[in-house]
Amino acid sequence: MSSNSVLIFDLDDTLYQKHGVVNDDFSGMENIQLYMGAYDFLRKTTCKKVLVTKGNPSMQIKKLEILGIKDFFEEILICSTSEEKKGLFQQLKEKHPECEFWVIGDRIDSEIRFGNELGMKTVLLRKGKYAELVPKEPIEAPTYELKEFSELNSICGSPNSKPSGVSCGKTFLVDYKRGVV
Ligand SMILES: [Mg+2]
Repeated sequence: MSSNSVLIFDLDDTLYQKHGVVNDDFSGMENIQLYMGAYDFLRKTTCKKVLVTKGNPSMQIKKLEILGIKDFFEEILICSTSEEKKGLFQQLKEKHPECEFWVIGDRIDSEIRFGNELGMKTVLLRKGKYAELVPKEPIEAPTYELKEFSELNSICGSPNSKPSGVSCGKTFLVDYKRGVV
C-alpha cells in the first residue's frame, strides 16, 4: 500500500459479522460488532477509504452508525445490485486514475471478481456465509486471502510494510447515486 492507495471496503461480513447475527427482517442489527482490529485499522490508515455496499440504504447507514465507523470513509456508496457495485468500482477508478486500488471483501463472486477484472489488488476475508466458496475461474482468485480482519495490517498496514499474508499467487488480472451521503 502506498500513500496514493484507495481502499474499497465491503461492509457485511467484511467489517463486522452479519451472518447469523442480522436477520432478513433486520432484527438483530442492534447486536452487530466490528471484527477485532477493524476499528483501529480504519482509524489509523490515512489513505482514502471508500465503502461500497449492496443493500437497503437506510439500513446500511444505520449499521455504520451502530458500528461507529461512518466518519472514517471519504465516500459511502450504496447500490442495490452486484452489477451496480462493479459500476461503482469502475467510476472510482476513473475518478482517481493516479491511485492504486485495493478491494477488501468476503465474496469471491462479487467484489473480489470485480476488483480483479478492473486490475485492482484484492483481499478476501474468509468470513460469513460465503467463506467456503471456491473460485470457479482464475478471475475469482484474490491477491491475498485472510482468515481474520486483523491480518490486514500485515498486508497494507503501513506504506513500507511488506506483504506477509497468504498470497494466492497471481493477480488475475443505477440508482446507486442516492447512496452517496
Ligand atoms: Mg459482504
